[in-house]
Formats: sequence, structure tokens, C-alpha cells
Amino acid sequence: MTKRDYYEILGVPRGASPDEIKKAYRQMAMKYHPDRNPNDKQAEEKFKEAAEAYDVLGDPDKRRRYDQFGHDGMRGGAQARDFHDINDIFTTFNDIFGGGFGGSIFDEVFGGNRGRRRGQGQVGTPGSDLRVKLRLTLEEISTGVEKKIKIRRLKKCDTCSGSGAKSGTGKDTCPQCGGTGELRKVSRSMFGQFVNITACPTCGGEGRVIRTPCSECNGEGRLQGESTIRVNVPAGVSEGNYIPLEGQGNAGRRGGPAGDLIVEIEEEPHTLFTRNGDDIIYDLLISFPTAALGGEVEIPTLTSKAKLVIDPGTPAGRMLRMRDRGIPHLNGYGRGDQLVRVNIWVPQNLNKHEKELLRELSKSEHMNPSEEDRRSASKTFFEKVRDAFS
Ligand SMILES: [Zn+2]
Ligand SMILES: [Zn+2]
Repeated sequence: MTKRDYYEILGVPRGASPDEIKKAYRQMAMKYHPDRNPNDKQAEEKFKEAAEAYDVLGDPDKRRRYDQFGHDGMRGGAQARDFHDINDIFTTFNDIFGGGFGGSIFDEVFGGNRGRRRGQGQVGTPGSDLRVKLRLTLEEISTGVEKKIKIRRLKKCDTCSGSGAKSGTGKDTCPQCGGTGELRKVSRSMFGQFVNITACPTCGGEGRVIRTPCSECNGEGRLQGESTIRVNVPAGVSEGNYIPLEGQGNAGRRGGPAGDLIVEIEEEPHTLFTRNGDDIIYDLLISFPTAALGGEVEIPTLTSKAKLVIDPGTPAGRMLRMRDRGIPHLNGYGRGDQLVRVNIWVPQNLNKHEKELLRELSKSEHMNPSEEDRRSASKTFFEKVRDAFS
């Protein structure tokens, strides 16, 4: 089967900018979206075709190859994806539809959340999600921890059990929607005419309205309150990780499902250690005699202390690795290392006698770097700089 030109599919000129391509694809995707064209094989094909075209033209590398070699250039390594399953298209292009599929651009157009589409006669309105930050020390992160957090959130009203109705009173059919819970509105848009179905604002989609509201919550079925929530934090989390707690957000209106509580991890800077992935770095300061003669030093670890052997002739800047003394990997297998960076301390307040001793010592044969030592130090330095920037 000969394939159509990708530019032709999206209806854009060959010189189109990435934004124009994205916009064109978005329009095609909305036009041929399966929700708007149920059981329409042709629309589904068009939808897939547009997704494939965007997969190539939306990616600078693939687009360059396609411009140069056409469809042939898409064989082998940089193959265009074949979209067999409609859901692949959604997961692949979440970015252009604006993030998680739960709140995609389709919702705006098609009026409804795919995940939790409102059914007729659904009770209540879902509660909103809440976000809270949780600050943890490196020690807590390294062991995992159970934390209690206090939050203000809407809780179910105990007086009416969340229904919003005064106890002993019933409900009436909603006068606005006649009990269907939804309102239909026919509107025109750039994609043509379509029917927009929205939840009835009077009954919130339930189809029934309260005769006498609960006096405690004014018929809302929920009240503002304070709650203490336990959060189990696994070992190995990092700054910016999220822990979603389902159903721990604001209570829904009139018995609607509660939102989620999203806990965002923040990491407190440690006074001794710097975290680098799952490794921790410790800056060790040793005296010049210890560096020259070798010795044993005691250093702090995340859990206690450890003895570390310094070899004779250890230069400043050397990294010593203590295996498995770092942060556990979040996947549960193994942990990082503790890296010890050796720094050599230069004394600041020498007395007369000490100065004399040092002067005497500095005249000695092995106390000063040779030309060779200087050259190799300089070379090592440039290698480090190069490695850092490559
Ligand atoms: Zn109530
Ligand atoms: Zn209604």
C-alpha cells in the first residue's frame, strides 16, 4: 500500500513550523476523534494516519530524515510507529493534548472526563484534589518513614451522612433537568455542529434535589475540618516525587466521591552530606601528616559512624568509595554508595616552633613536587575539566 505524504495528511506546507504542525495535528485529531465519530472506520483510519504523520513531523530528527528520504527514510532505525490501538495514540501524545489524559484537550471539546464520565443519576459532585508538601531529612529518606500530616480539608457531614438532606426529609425530581441530571445544548464550532451535554447545575447531575437542606452543612453534605493523615514514605524517594493518596482529598458535595491527596516530597539539605542520585558525598578534611603517612579516620555515615583507612600518599581530591552506605534505590533493590572526598587541611595559626619545624622540613628532599609531578597534576586537572564538560 502506498502511503500518503505526511504533510498532505496534516494539510501543512513542507516549510511549516513545529507549532503549525502541532496545531494542524490537534485539529485533525479532534475532527476524527473516535468519541465524535463512533463506529466510523474511515474516521478511525484518518485518526491513526494523522497520529503517524505527527509522530514523524513532530520529531525534528524523524522529520529531517523524512524530508530527505521520504517514506523510505523511515525504515530501519527511525521507523514511524504504526498505530494499531487507538489508546496508543493517546498515551503517546499526552504532551500535545496537555498532560495526563485525565484532563486532556478532548475534555474541553467533548465536555466530559474520559476516566470518570458522569453517568445519569450520579450522586453528588466529586471533591477536589489537595496538594501538600512533606519535608523529609536525608536520614528519613534513607530508612523510609511513616509521617503524620495535619491538613485542612472538606469532610463528610456526619449529621446528614453526606447527603445534604435534613434527616427524615426526602428528595424531589429536579425541576431544571426533569430528573435526567444533564442538560443538552446544540452548538456550532469550527468542527461543525455538535451536541454538548453538561451536568445540570441545579441538581449537580443527580436528577433530584433536596427538599429540606441539612442545617449543619447547609445542604452541602460536607464541612471544613482538620484531619491527621498517615503517609508511608518508602525509602529512596527524592525531592519532587509525589505520593498520591486516593480518596484523601476534599470530600465530594452531597455524597460525591472524595478527591485525592497528593503529597509532594521535599528534601531538607543535610549538614554533612550532599546527595547525588542515590550516592551521598561527604567532604573529609584530613591533616597533611595523615595524608602523607596514612592513617585511620572516623567518619559519619547516614546510620552511624565508620572507620576509613587513608593510604600513605593520598592526594587531595581523591574520592574514596564506601559501598552500600548511600540511599536505597526506590525500586527496592540495593542502595547507593557513600563517596568520601579527601580534602587536606592547611593550618592557619602556627606558633614559632611549628613554623621552624616546617621550614626545616620543606628543605627536605621529598617535600616539594618535581617538574614531573606538576605536569601530571596539571594534566589530571584538565582531564577532569574535560570529563566534566563532555
Ligand atoms: Zn449535613
Ligand atoms: Zn437537574
